[in-house]
Amino acid sequence: MDQHTPATHLPAWDRVLVVVAHPDDESFGLGAVIDKFTSGQSEVHVLTLTHGEASTLGGEIDDLAAERRQELLRASEILNISSVELRDWPDGGLEHADEHSVVEDIKRAIAKHQPDGLLVFERQGVNRHPDHAAATARALSAVAGTTIPVLAWTVTKEVARQLNAEIGSIMHGDLPEDIDFTITVSREKQLRAINAHVSQVVPGGLLFRRLELLGDNESLRWLQAPA
Ligand SMILES: [Zn+2]
Repeated sequence: MDQHTPATHLPAWDRVLVVVAHPDDESFGLGAVIDKFTSGQSEVHVLTLTHGEASTLGGEIDDLAAERRQELLRASEILNISSVELRDWPDGGLEHADEHSVVEDIKRAIAKHQPDGLLVFERQGVNRHPDHAAATARALSAVAGTTIPVLAWTVTKEVARQLNAEIGSIMHGDLPEDIDFTITVSREKQLRAINAHVSQVVPGGLLFRRLELLGDNESLRWLQAPA
């Protein structure tokens, strides 16, 4: 039987399109991976499908959607993201938004940026937020029938199990044989980008414990492998 050895380097893509549900997903989830891409030769463009207006955090802010846009722009600058597009699909209801229209929206971003590949959350959305899962599902529909590869950020089963046991979260984790990349990352820019999302950062919460457990490693898997 073949020993499964994950790759240790990200694909050498010139252009990456990130498709996520919320402003902060690019930092809280993908920050270190995006930093790794932009520290190499890659240009990273981000498509965020909702304004995150339904967050239970930042409720004291008058216009949370506008505030979160500003936070996203600051975080993107820190992560050297080349462009950000923020859409107005319903936060907390992305899975119920007209599927065809969301897919067409993502296709337009693909046509504009001509990415070598997409970067998304894994199918269950990592923390099983339905918006995260819907963003990935629609991104996969948008590239169905094309040769555009889709790379997904995930965590290991072990990390998910530990977080769920400690914190009572419902994180999804992947088995070692399903992980295609284990890369070494720096957390420096990710942490700065996380802190740019002032309205959403919860000190000592699940996010920081996850980063602690992950150390300088991140795991990724193919959802649509290169042809
Ligand atoms: Zn999110």
